[in-house]
Amino acid sequence: MDFKSFIRDVPNFPKEGVVFKDITLLLQNPITLNETANALLKLLDGQKIDKVVGMESRGFIFGPMLAERLNAGFVPVRKPGKLPSKRISETYNLEYGTDTLEIHLDAIEKGDKVLIHDDVMATGGTANAACKLVEKLGGEIVQCNFLIELTFLNGVSKIKDYPVKSLLKY
Ligand code: IMP
Repeated sequence: MDFKSFIRDVPNFPKEGVVFKDITLLLQNPITLNETANALLKLLDGQKIDKVVGMESRGFIFGPMLAERLNAGFVPVRKPGKLPSKRISETYNLEYGTDTLEIHLDAIEKGDKVLIHDDVMATGGTANAACKLVEKLGGEIVQCNFLIELTFLNGVSKIKDYPVKSLLKY
């Protein structure tokens, strides 16, 4: 399937100079929605997964679809102030300033085999922070898996200790 024909480039969003990869056309079509989840699943090559960890907010779309197909649980990694129970945080650097992600303390059990999923990997900062949160809780990262990888930003260099697979590369 030509997934790329369902990805729309939106220039100057969310700010001047950024070309945003918009996945909404792919989501709103029932065939591409289902086929994308199947193709992301294939990137795992049958490896066993206990928990799929998805990052707010577009990691919450295919993350649960993958978890359902893998017979695994789904764990949300969220921006500060959103998770209601006991949690840990990881702060990471952006081009200007910092950002923070959080995970519930009881979301991962020691030794859980974890798939990290997000829609887009750009600089890799978000994925790296999610990996650190999972490892702090004793989880083992089996794969970081993305719908889209913006290879020109070299995000893989930030998560080079983990296996990375992306369905579409730009
Ligand atoms: P990173 O931390 O720089 O790798 O940015 C990744 C995060 O930003 C992910 O959670 C993505 O959802 C979001 N993101 C970055 N660029 C795009 C884009 O072009 N389209 C959609 N989401 C993006």
